[in-house]
Amino acid sequence: MNLTGKVIVVTGAANGQGAAEAVALAKHGAAVIATDLGDEPAWIGETDAPLEYSRLDVAVEADWQALAAHIRSRHGTVHGLVNNAGITNRARLNDIDLASFRHVMDVNLTGSLLGIQAISPLMVDGGSIVLVGSVAAVTGHYPVAYTVSKWAVRGLARVASLELGPLGIRVNIIHPGFIKTAMTASAPAAYIEHTLAETPLGRLGEVADVAPMVSFLMSDESAYISGAEIPIDGGQSAHAGMKRLSDLARE
Ligand code: NAD
Repeated sequence: MNLTGKVIVVTGAANGQGAAEAVALAKHGAAVIATDLGDEPAWIGETDAPLEYSRLDVAVEADWQALAAHIRSRHGTVHGLVNNAGITNRARLNDIDLASFRHVMDVNLTGSLLGIQAISPLMVDGGSIVLVGSVAAVTGHYPVAYTVSKWAVRGLARVASLELGPLGIRVNIIHPGFIKTAMTASAPAAYIEHTLAETPLGRLGEVADVAPMVSFLMSDESAYISGAEIPIDGGQSAHAGMKRLSDLARE
């Protein structure tokens, strides 16, 4: 995949999947603008990949406007946006407090909307946007705020692919399964055990399982793919709870 000449923004790029995606995109030749909440993470200075860093809270409209102004003056245009930043909250239906629910929606959903609104007007024909859903976006998962936010991001991806397609801008959404990052580091042992039992490929995911798909979706090799939902979950979401039945029947 040759991404030479493409300017690509990645949100939530200080850690986890976003960091791996930013590095992979840069290694394929893109000029990557990695963004996240804090100061520039140390690893950016240590990598030989051509990355620049900007502080950006995806839930703050003014931050997006500042980034758009920076891109306009420094790069003129932008070819890709990876709306990766996200947070979780494991509270259940009757336990979630309103402030926490709104915060998850602000970051996961509103952040994705603000990103599209700020960046897509700077995009050229051939632009590509990747939103990040989850297995929680395709199932009735128990963490209510996270699940609702990710289902809504799915809807946003569909609307954006419809609206931006005529401008030559593609919009797709990936649905990672359990990926080993800071977000999942605190997952209870029972959760990990269950995930492994429900994953046909029989292992948890790594950031290196996700980054190549993002690079592909940013590249011209995926030029006719838009409005797609792509699970990266070892098969977890494909069997609708039937794996346990299948395993029991085999026994
Ligand atoms: P992570 O916690 O390692 O990284 C998330 C990054 O987002 C962090 O660097 C964090 O600082 C940043 N972030 C949080 N709030 C932000 C904000 N308001 N503005 C800008 N940046 C912000 O988690 P990850 O696993 O790399 O998650 C990346 C994406 O993948 C998220 O959207 C997450 O919901 C999704 N996802 C993760 C998993 C998994 O198993 N890890 C599964 C499905 C989906």
